Amino acid sequence: MSALVRRHARWVVPVATPPIANGTVVTDGERITWVGPRANAPVGGQDEELGDCILTPGLVNAHTHLDLTMMRGALEDLTFFEWVRTLTRAKRELLTDDDFRAAALLGAAEGLSRGITTFGDTSDNDAAFDALLTLGARGIAYREVFGADPAQVDASIAGLTTAIATMRLRATPLVRLGVSPHAPYSVSDALFVSVREFADREGLPLAVHIAESAAEDDLVIRASGPFAEFLRARGLEVERRASGPIQLIDAAGLLRQNTLLIHCVRVAASDVARIADTGCGIAHCPTSNAKLGHGVAPLREFLATGARVGLGSDSMASNNTMDLLAEARLAVLQQRAITKTPDALPARAAFRLATLGGAEALRLDDEIGSLVPGKQADLAAFRVSDLGLPAEDPLAALVFGAGQVVAHRVIIAGRERVRDGVVTDLDPGVPARVRAAALRLTQWRSARAAL
Ligand SMILES: [Zn+2]
Repeated sequence: MSALVRRHARWVVPVATPPIANGTVVTDGERITWVGPRANAPVGGQDEELGDCILTPGLVNAHTHLDLTMMRGALEDLTFFEWVRTLTRAKRELLTDDDFRAAALLGAAEGLSRGITTFGDTSDNDAAFDALLTLGARGIAYREVFGADPAQVDASIAGLTTAIATMRLRATPLVRLGVSPHAPYSVSDALFVSVREFADREGLPLAVHIAESAAEDDLVIRASGPFAEFLRARGLEVERRASGPIQLIDAAGLLRQNTLLIHCVRVAASDVARIADTGCGIAHCPTSNAKLGHGVAPLREFLATGARVGLGSDSMASNNTMDLLAEARLAVLQQRAITKTPDALPARAAFRLATLGGAEALRLDDEIGSLVPGKQADLAAFRVSDLGLPAEDPLAALVFGAGQVVAHRVIIAGRERVRDGVVTDLDPGVPARVRAAALRLTQWRSARAAL
């Protein structure tokens, strides 16, 4: 039996080439075999009429913490230090493995329902890894590792080694592994080096939160601020570590191909050039960076260097929704507001960030990110009526559309994962489990506030 499927839509947006009116994408099993105008499409196979839809590559969310989906709305209006501390304590004191598992499933399902087919996830458990496997999504599960105390290095690496060995048994071509030394305020310089060496030995990609906040700068550059005080209160010596966060991880050997730099808000022009030269990917997280009051990353400067930049929603603790089209929209609006120009980042460039750019940032662009014969059949179809706009310019409709748009169809490696906006393999009990965890979190926060 032939596995050929011809999907026809009012618009096909291949990303690497201009949109095609009345287009067709042909897939054979897990791969794309043909993209072009319907009138020229090869005959044979099964037809799927998507009608008044825009058919695009699956969206790529370069940075998530799917296991924190229960934290939506739970950590509002805190300083970054308080936000990190509260989040960390909630994970340690309140939330259970079952909470993380339910949250990761719901988070992945929310992403799928919005057209996201690939997730670059960082977490310190395997809940997101399992959720991607369960729901048939694609991604890299970067296993997080922590340890601000240099004396903890061996213990941290031992824990990481065990975790990776266990997860490796279940990794697939669709769901791969990486490692993530979390951030300069939670990882010692010695641990950064050890994790980089581990990643080299194991042949794994890296991800690191970097150059995100003023408090991080204070710690790294001046050995001052809330993170320095907190670490000193734990009995650790805190000294100046580098002239900036990028210099810190450069010294540890982390600036290299196959490293994803998450945030990169507080970077100098020389940092931008160095990041581009070393071939790192960048996860640009416009909503999270704005919501936590960090600022706006120099997106145009990064793009001018040819750097590999994608978009990330970050966790629901610092965003509240997972909507990559909304991230693309905010990325455009921020750049136009900053530069006071109406064409600072065209819609097509923003949509590229949400697809091929994310694939480049995760170094998966040989396989996904654009509709090209030979690439994986990862597709998303959005109804024009759901975008709430006429679609004479389909890229503008996608980027400036109605917001929180649910995808009509989502296909990953040729398999349908969302049909009529519904995620096919989500256990219907999951949302209630996440609601229960969110309620406990709210009560825990209220009790702590009352102390
Ligand atoms: Zn993050």
